[in-house]
Amino acid sequence: MIENLRAWLEEQGADSAYISDPVSIAYLTGFRTDPHERLMGLGVGDGGAVLIVPGLERESAEAAAAGVEVLSWRDGEDPYQLVREAIGRPRLLAVEKGHLTLAVAERIGAERLVDVGEVLRRFRLRKSLEEQEKLGHAAAITDTVAGAVLRWLRPGQTELEVATELAAQIGAEGGTLAFESIVQSGPNSAQPHLRPTGRRLAPGDLVLLDFGAAWQGYRGDITRMAVIGKPDPRQRELHQLVLDAHDAAIAQVRPGVTAGEVDAAAREVIERADQGAHFIHRVGHGLGLETHEAPSLDPGSGTVLEEGMVFTVEPGVYLPGWGGIRIEDDVVVEADGARRLTNADNTLREVEP
Ligand code: ZN
Ligand code: ZN
Repeated sequence: MIENLRAWLEEQGADSAYISDPVSIAYLTGFRTDPHERLMGLGVGDGGAVLIVPGLERESAEAAAAGVEVLSWRDGEDPYQLVREAIGRPRLLAVEKGHLTLAVAERIGAERLVDVGEVLRRFRLRKSLEEQEKLGHAAAITDTVAGAVLRWLRPGQTELEVATELAAQIGAEGGTLAFESIVQSGPNSAQPHLRPTGRRLAPGDLVLLDFGAAWQGYRGDITRMAVIGKPDPRQRELHQLVLDAHDAAIAQVRPGVTAGEVDAAAREVIERADQGAHFIHRVGHGLGLETHEAPSLDPGSGTVLEEGMVFTVEPGVYLPGWGGIRIEDDVVVEADGARRLTNADNTLREVEP
């Protein structure tokens, strides 16, 4: 991957690159960490790649980032000394303009800056087989946890307790939390991004569970619906509608189709049932080292799908005051269509009241 970056730098006439986003560093070197406020950066130039890490990360960086020179600094030392060592005094320096702060850019002091963020995102669009394997493993852990939910989900639990249990189950399967789980019950499920609250699950409630496991940095992302007791006709009908939209979107996926066409396939199903106004978000987002990355499957998007892209398909309908239903799975684009990475039962699950 660093080779591709170096070729791009040459094309641009850039002397070197200074990569600051930990996700990009993980992608390029294999070393994943969150350095918090301490400086971490990757310098890439003619001489090779130099990874600058806080001293307490040195050992793990050396183990993970094969073929990359690792320099480290200790609290109290000036890390910019190492940055200058890594990138020299470039006239044209490639940086991630969407990530590097102005303060750091000024300290580095290159004459001119060119954005490398966009090309790194482009590199990451199509997942290698190795990446697909990691995504598959993350999805498998996510599936296992999703499949076992009915064993422990009970009325009377709070949304927060359910979220904590999901995290414990993911840990028991060898994963880490890909993102803060969304657990919503009853009318709360009408707000797609509402965080778990102290509300207790009660008979008749819809329960929306949106969570994922991460494995070696790669993420799973799934949404499943349950109901406490027997579903009423409306819950059953809207769940089936969302499932039909989900299936229609997945059936649309293949190389050469646009992201907008996948979104439209789901949207048409929901619009035909006069629920279009209640499908208030895009149909999906790319998935990889980040839970949300390219491609974005927005309405009208002209982004053309290619083999190896991985994204979610997650249509939903949200009725204020009543509740919401979303069904989400992860897919990889293959030559003949979508291959699903998540496969847990996506029927409306019934919890004993
Ligand atoms: Zn999700
Ligand atoms: Zn998602």
